[in-house]
Amino acid sequence: MSRNNIIDLEQQYVLGTYARAPFVLDRGQGCWVFDTDGNAYLDCVAGIAVNALGHADPGLAAVLAEQAGTLWHVSNLYHTAPQARLARKLCESSFADRVFFCNSGAEANEGAFKFARKWAHDHFGPDKHAIVAFSGAFHGRTFGALAATPREKYQAAFRPLLPGVRIAPFNDLVGTAAVMGDDVCAVIVEPVQGEGGVYPATPEFLAGLRELCDRHHALLIFDEVQCGLGRTGTLWAHQGYGVTPDLLTAAKPLAGGLPMGAVLMTEAVAEVMHPGDHGSTFAASPLVAAVAEAVLDRINQPEFLADVAAKGAELKERLEELNSPLITAVRGRGLMLGADLAVPASDVVNAGYRHGLLLINAGPNTLRLVPPLVITRAEMALLIGRLGAIFQSL
Ligand SMILES: *Cc1c(COP(=O)(O)O)cnc(C)c1O
Repeated sequence: MSRNNIIDLEQQYVLGTYARAPFVLDRGQGCWVFDTDGNAYLDCVAGIAVNALGHADPGLAAVLAEQAGTLWHVSNLYHTAPQARLARKLCESSFADRVFFCNSGAEANEGAFKFARKWAHDHFGPDKHAIVAFSGAFHGRTFGALAATPREKYQAAFRPLLPGVRIAPFNDLVGTAAVMGDDVCAVIVEPVQGEGGVYPATPEFLAGLRELCDRHHALLIFDEVQCGLGRTGTLWAHQGYGVTPDLLTAAKPLAGGLPMGAVLMTEAVAEVMHPGDHGSTFAASPLVAAVAEAVLDRINQPEFLADVAAKGAELKERLEELNSPLITAVRGRGLMLGADLAVPASDVVNAGYRHGLLLINAGPNTLRLVPPLVITRAEMALLIGRLGAIFQSL
């Protein structure tokens, strides 16, 4: 099938919820993807911060093939080894005592909200059910997660949303204290906001949220769906802040490109949940969990994480050194970087296609760089060279 045939078919039959790039990708290797016309693109999107180990990683492919010939899916009616091993590794690598598995970031946040409400319900009664989320946040598209994602474009046509969600100003403790109360069961925050424009929380803000939650007997949820699992140079983004949550949601890179989400939690939260209280048909199937275990084994190595931190700092410096009048600010942590632009970010994304780069925005005027964590220095140099050429041409 030709490129145009594929695009026509898709536009006729797939629900039109995506504005897609004008080519068809059919192969990937490391940090590179190739379209059906043979063009190569350096992938600085990584499937939206998903493909942490790049494309077609031979180690992951071997684990996947091995498990594919063994057992794919049996549901959570039965015990399976990859899920049990993965749960132990996630707990041993974090503050958590227990894990609930699901299939996406939005679903992980829905789960966290339900666990927080059950915890508050059991300990304090049904009036303690409010959830506090923040301006600029993105927690997903399902109804609960959407209520905590205060963007008019995403919410307007879908009201009524989940009631009981309050929005506070991000990185503003005084404004947050003003909406806190004893009726709050949970506060959810991204330690580094992704979709909202790559805004790291300040250390004082996260520490202050911990205090506010403790004072009001509320649970603190960190949404690390995008910033977690090595992206910022520590396994969990909050480890760079020294503040510990009660629950943490993870997803995007967890199974290297297969769908998986997880809610990590302390025993104090876990103990309120009993058989039948929540569940998922597909979650942590042997196939997906086996790959996730291999991903976690690779990322959770001190040398790997130190390399992400070092490469992130270098890439940030090189971006600043471009000294383009079109770049007005650069921020981020590790390999999760944002550059505010004096032009629409979509202009740069589109120019990227002509220069062999996959790029993504985070809001209308912010360019986001979230390449595979395995990007090499040579590939970073190529990226900077191509970005320089793009900014020259605009
Ligand atoms: C992408 C994202 C989500 C939603 O994840 P899906 O898998 O698309 O449901 C939630 N929170 C954050 C921070 C995200 O970046």
